[in-house]
Amino acid sequence: MNTQFSRRGILQSTCAALLGQALAAPRSFAQEVAPTPPAPVPAVPFPAAALEQRQALIQGYRQTLERMLAKMPLPIIDVEHHWGGGERIALAKLIDNMDSNGVALTWLGPNEKHGSASSLRTCQQFAQRLVPTIVHGDGPRWHGHDLTLVQEIEDDAHSGAYFGMGEFEARHYVSGSNNRDIHMPTDSASFHGVFRTSQETGLAFLYHHEAEDALLPELEKMLALYPKARIVWCHVGRNRNPQTWTQLPTPQGVAAFIQKYPNLHFDILQSGAGSIFPPTGAAESVLYYGNKSPTLRSEWATLFNTYPERFLIGSDINTFRWNNYSDVIFRLRSAVLRVLTPDAAEKIAYKNAWRLMTGQDW
Ligand SMILES: [Zn+2]
Repeated sequence: MNTQFSRRGILQSTCAALLGQALAAPRSFAQEVAPTPPAPVPAVPFPAAALEQRQALIQGYRQTLERMLAKMPLPIIDVEHHWGGGERIALAKLIDNMDSNGVALTWLGPNEKHGSASSLRTCQQFAQRLVPTIVHGDGPRWHGHDLTLVQEIEDDAHSGAYFGMGEFEARHYVSGSNNRDIHMPTDSASFHGVFRTSQETGLAFLYHHEAEDALLPELEKMLALYPKARIVWCHVGRNRNPQTWTQLPTPQGVAAFIQKYPNLHFDILQSGAGSIFPPTGAAESVLYYGNKSPTLRSEWATLFNTYPERFLIGSDINTFRWNNYSDVIFRLRSAVLRVLTPDAAEKIAYKNAWRLMTGQDW
């Protein structure tokens, strides 16, 4: 990457952020400006042949976005997709769904059992639409602390063939759509491997953690230890237990994390206003009010407008939730992106994902 370009890009986005703040930020968040995340520069460069292949793929992704931008203002890069290997859903159906919902690119994260290489093979079939992504930590090898899996993830990341990693599960409750009652501590050897790999390669990884107050220190310890690891904490705006989750499911709590950790990002909760977490009966989403046409609460709109570099769109679609695809994307568009400043909406829809996957500003 050209250093000059990178520095200019950072300056430009900082100015844009400051301007956005002057226009849109309320006083509560405007006192401190969070540092703009730096473009990732791999500490250990990818092999030359991989770099060439990478540039060719990036060129294809760019063409897709440009083609869509000619027709619509906000193409989306979906950073969180759980692909079941095409066993139950045909790949062409995914492309159809992307087309009809204005999704330009999908980070194609395969379920653990299919292996990372399955993402490479699948993405080749639609090389301008699907982005090779390393497996989700969602299966017995990850949950069983299998360090050979972590070694594979490290090797795959360093190969230069992938653009993102995971969703890796730390604490994961049983929910309406799965029975995984898991706690892989964020400071376990497996997570050390993932944080280190992200820091070394600049690849971002998706992270699932239930935001109980008592579970935050294990994450904060790692964020401090690996300041250059690039993390996308999934499902921000969720509260599964108001008794034990008091800090993070508030805009102030998220803002405090953002100000403290320059490489921490979030994808925005996918479920709607009426979604209930069955074990506690909690109304999961703290983002909206009004069930039928959810309205983003103003304090969350303010948060997204104040720190637009830190949020992304991920559908969280898997085989089980396949039929929710259009609803999820429609809700994120109509209830979130539509009410934000144009600058924030563009960053959250695709520009931040572009920066994380290519190391360059759009
Ligand atoms: Zn998740």
